[in-house]
Amino acid sequence: MIDGAGVSRFLADEEATLALGASWAASLNAPLTVYLQGDLGAGKTTFTRGLLRGLGHSGAVKSPTYAIVESYPFPAFTLHHFDLYRFGSPEEWEDAGLDDLFGSRSICLIEWPQQGGGFTPAADITLSLNHAERGRTVTLTAHTPQGRKSLEAWLN
Ligand code: ADP
Ligand code: MG
Repeated sequence: MIDGAGVSRFLADEEATLALGASWAASLNAPLTVYLQGDLGAGKTTFTRGLLRGLGHSGAVKSPTYAIVESYPFPAFTLHHFDLYRFGSPEEWEDAGLDDLFGSRSICLIEWPQQGGGFTPAADITLSLNHAERGRTVTLTAHTPQGRKSLEAWLN
């Protein structure tokens, strides 16, 4: 069941994380907000890099740790990749005016969403990456009808 419990997969290596990201590109529809959960080095930025490659982005994909957000325009939507790791307090969300980036044509992927406290918009999907003995496990959970639709189109 996609809702509630979530779907888990094993990702043996970096290539598997990139491939999972790329495989989502064809079924991605805006608006969508995705929380990327997991420790430092879990693969959140790697997953996003794979998704952007799958969408046809051929340039660099920088970790937004210092910039807070990197935005990538595509014909149907703009993908905003956030990293709130360096937030000193949740109010930085408001100071940076990040709500302006959420809209009907936005796909928002957010690393360290908890750093934004109550300011971070709710997620349609949570993608949680965890270190395994070798590789990673990923768990995908939908929280809204839009999130469920996206996961079903992607994983079926
Ligand atoms: P995060 O954004 O979560 O801090 P990064 O994506 O920047 O993590 O870094 C993840 C690191 O783990 C990279 O060195 C990458 O090569 C590696 N990695 C990614 N996916 C896997 C995997 N499935 N198995 C083993 N190593 C992985
Ligand atoms: Mg990262």
